Formats: sequence, C-alpha cells, structure tokens
Amino acid sequence: MSTGDESPEVTRERVLERIREDSRFVLAAHEAPDGDALGSLVAMQGLLRALGKDSHMFIAAADLPLPYEYRFFELDGLISEPPPDIAQRTVMFLDCGNIDRNSASVLQHGRHLLNIDHHHDNTRFGTLDHVVPQASCTAEIVWDLMHGLGVAPTPQMAQALYVGLITDTGRFMYENTGPRAHEMAGELIAAGVDVQDIYRRLYEEMPEAKLALLARALTAMRRYDSGELTLAALSAQDFAETGAQDSYSEGIVDHLRALAGTKVAVLVRELSTGPRAGQRKVSLRATDDDVDVSRIAREQGGGGHRRAAGFTTALELDELTEFLRRAIAAQLHPEPAPA
Ligand code: AMP
Ligand code: MN
Ligand code: MN
Repeated sequence: MSTGDESPEVTRERVLERIREDSRFVLAAHEAPDGDALGSLVAMQGLLRALGKDSHMFIAAADLPLPYEYRFFELDGLISEPPPDIAQRTVMFLDCGNIDRNSASVLQHGRHLLNIDHHHDNTRFGTLDHVVPQASCTAEIVWDLMHGLGVAPTPQMAQALYVGLITDTGRFMYENTGPRAHEMAGELIAAGVDVQDIYRRLYEEMPEAKLALLARALTAMRRYDSGELTLAALSAQDFAETGAQDSYSEGIVDHLRALAGTKVAVLVRELSTGPRAGQRKVSLRATDDDVDVSRIAREQGGGGHRRAAGFTTALELDELTEFLRRAIAAQLHPEPAPA
C-alpha cells in the first residue's frame, strides 16, 4: 500500500515515471465494465502501445462478450487469463474503487499495482494510488496522463476517451460536468471523434428486449415515503421473459430519478447467472446532495460516488426496501439529538 496522503499532483508525476520506466503492463478495470472502464482501458492500451510498451488488457471471461453497445471497441491485446510473467508486469487498475473480485486474485501479484481512479471512496489498494475525485471520469485522468507523456491521441484513442466522458457525465448533464469535461470533448472531437456515430452506437440501435425490460421496470415502479424513494425491481424472470441480458438494465435508474419528488432512485435486479445468482444488484442515484448514496452503498459492502453508487446483496426484496427507507430517512430526517 502507498502512504495515500500525496496530492494528485505528486501521484501524477509518480505514475508518469512508472509509465516511462516500465516496459511490460497489464490493464484491468472493474467487473461488468461500463463506458468509462472500457474507454479508459482501450485508451490506455493505445497510449502504452504508442510508447512502444508491451501491454495487455485483462477482461475476465465472465464479462465477455461485452454489452452490445461497446462491441465496436477494438480489443487488441485482450487476455482473460493472467500472463505467465505477471510478477514482472506493472498492473494498472482503471476506474476501480476497490480491488476487483474478477481480477484481484490473478493480478495482485504484479510488480507494481497502479490504481488510477476518480471514486472519492477509493480504498487505495495500489502500491501507487492516483485518485482524482475532481475528475469527471477515469478517462479524463487517462487524457491528462496522455498529455503528460506528450502523446497525441489516434482517432481510436480519442473515441475511447470520449465514450468514458459521455457515459460518466450523463452526456455532460451530471454535476461532475465542468469546463474541463467540455475542453476534453473539444480536443477529442478535433482528434477525430464522430459524435453522431458514437451517440447512435451507445444510445440507439438498441435491441427490442431493452425497451421491453424498461417497460417492465416502469410498471413495477413503487414510491415510498412521499416519493422520496422511487424503486423498481426486476426479477430473473423479467430478464428471461423479455429476452434481456443483464446489461440491458443500464440507464433504467435514470428514468426513476427523473420523477418529480424523488430524492433517491433505486433499481434492483436479481442476478440469474454466475457465483452470485439469486442475489440482487442494487443501483442507487441521488437527485442532489441531500443524500449521499455512496454512504448507503458502503454499509452493504459496495461504494461509488455521492450521487451514483451500487452494491450487491443477499437480502430479500422486502428487507432491502426497509433497509433503504431507513438509510435514506437517517440522512434526510435525522433524529434530533436527545436533550
Ligand atoms: P451502477 O449503479 O452499477 O451504474 O454503479 C454506479 C456507481 O457505483 C459506479 O461508479 C460504480 O463504480 C459504483 N459501484 C457499483 N457497484 C459497486 C460495488 N459493488 N462496489 C463499489 N462500487 C460500486
Ligand atoms: Mn465505471
Ligand atoms: Mn468512472
């Protein structure tokens, strides 16, 4: 573990030094990788290749094939097994708030563990932690490192960084969107990003089953405590009957948050495959700073950002709902201290 108290300016220099000096790398992101995880991975791979380094991207077999909207990424140098020379490689974890179950066991034996992330509750598991909570997305940190190394992005790298940027900022609409996000977008578009093409790939051309799943979630939606909590649960049966894959639930929680009066929106989905089949994955979104949903997620072993967080649980739906109502009320309506 690193001492963890250096500023991002200091850790940035140390990351740049590692990238300049080391020659063999493995890159990993969090399980069920989203646009930021994948965009950061693909862009960092391009950056290291541009510097003449030997680099592999690790994605666990359980996470392949990728969700349909990310299949256009060229995964040159992809591995799903640890390379035999792992002890000589520098491992870079991108967009991982904590060391990932899918990759921890195989990748923690790297020579250096670089933890590059923007989650404020990052557990600082690296030998070098470069955590920048002010960054809108991990792709923004990769973009900054690219500048530090004097590498101009290829159109493929620019596209990957752009995917991370728009998915984590909700297309420039979440509170993490600042001038820097727009400056980055301007530079990436100048470097060759086709904005309309990316929009179509990510948000349109969707399988019909995805809309069918959304319809089920909206039908199942329940409101609690004067609507402060808006919750929808999808069962394994909902996925099976609509023909939806797990990843088709992406974005549904934003519809729940959009409802007037909602303070916290929650989507619960029952996992149907893998070691956690039967358990529930919970996505939390807050409307404003009145509730910090990452605190609620951490109580259940998860984490995330103040306004977007998640966890996986073995709780039954009714117990889970009661837990959420209590946890939200504790932040919105704290009991006055006894006199
Ligand atoms: P999601 O609801 O899956 O889109 O996740 C929203 C945010 O919470 C992302 O920044 C995730 O990295 C984070 N997150 C989701 N699940 C977990 C978890 N089990 N542990 C830590 N962070 C999580
Ligand atoms: Mn992510
Ligand atoms: Mn991210």
